[in-house]
Amino acid sequence: MLIYIENQAKDLDQTKKTLDKFESAKIIYIDNYKNLFDKELPSWANNNSFIIAKLNSSAITDAPNWYWHNDKTSYFFKTSLNCVFDCSYCFLKWAFKNDIPVYFVNYDDIRKQIEEKVKNINLEQEKIENKKNDYELNLKTDVKYKDKIWFYSSDYSDILGMDNISGFLKNFVPFFEKINSPFHSVRTWENFTSSMMEIRTKSANIKSILDLWFIPKNTEFAFSLNPQDLIDKYEFWTSSLDDRIKSINILLEKGYNVWLRFLPLLPVKNYKEIYWQFIEEIKSKIDMDKVSSTFVSWLLYTKSDYNNILKKYPKLDILYRLKEEDWVFIREKREMRDYFYELFRSLDKKCFICLDKK
Ligand code: SF4
Repeated sequence: MLIYIENQAKDLDQTKKTLDKFESAKIIYIDNYKNLFDKELPSWANNNSFIIAKLNSSAITDAPNWYWHNDKTSYFFKTSLNCVFDCSYCFLKWAFKNDIPVYFVNYDDIRKQIEEKVKNINLEQEKIENKKNDYELNLKTDVKYKDKIWFYSSDYSDILGMDNISGFLKNFVPFFEKINSPFHSVRTWENFTSSMMEIRTKSANIKSILDLWFIPKNTEFAFSLNPQDLIDKYEFWTSSLDDRIKSINILLEKGYNVWLRFLPLLPVKNYKEIYWQFIEEIKSKIDMDKVSSTFVSWLLYTKSDYNNILKKYPKLDILYRLKEEDWVFIREKREMRDYFYELFRSLDKKCFICLDKK
């Protein structure tokens, strides 16, 4: 194991905790993670190595309006780059110059940024409430902060799959339980804007969830699922479907908030049969009444992303079963999407469909 550590990160708590776990690792100190991360390296050069760094820029970015909760107050936040899994269709294939994982471990700074964001939103909400009689202002903003604020944690990596190194859960799940307290005293429960975190994963390793020793109210664990044949073919190194289902059932049994994410639904040749059997399997193995929500999404790319992945993986068969359906996205054909709607709505009538008009 080879660990690169930025000089500015070497004294951080999480760096020391990580090094305790890899006592025999070779350590190389570096000035700036970008000196490595921004270089094209053959993938063998990254094997068995990772970078520990400090994030000096903003960890938070706005989620697009259409993203899952339809709230205007949804954000992605990053604490790592690159993934320990290797899904053939993933945007990480072309997003960065190499695939060496980077862990940003200045968690105090990142938590402060989140607190600041929530504080500003609450203050803005406060202003809106104080100006209830201002007709014009209400017209513009009255629905803006009614719902929860969502923070999506796994935009650039699989957070749960990497928790053994990052210690992310211990550092962020308890934090999200407490984050609203400074504002709680000035609000009634009804108009109180609470903050939620989603952890989306293809890992079945729930040890770090169970090790928290409490059931969080403000974190949702979202398991991304696909049929086993497709996991074998396109989602390398991720946990098997059976293992993910076992973990889901343990969490459901204990009362955790569990979501099921069926994404991306893949345009394989015999998709009708494969996904029909898959749904039957899910129905028979998971108590759907206990699942908080379900969500489906397509394999879809913007045109420039599609050209990027095509350049990198010209032999990836599923790319050739997508079609330009509108001016924004390359995605599955209407007929296929309609079939998936019917199927997944038979599993859950309220199943959320991402980025489509149904
Ligand atoms: S688990 Fe998610 S982030 Fe990781 S390679 Fe697969 S799609 Fe990409």
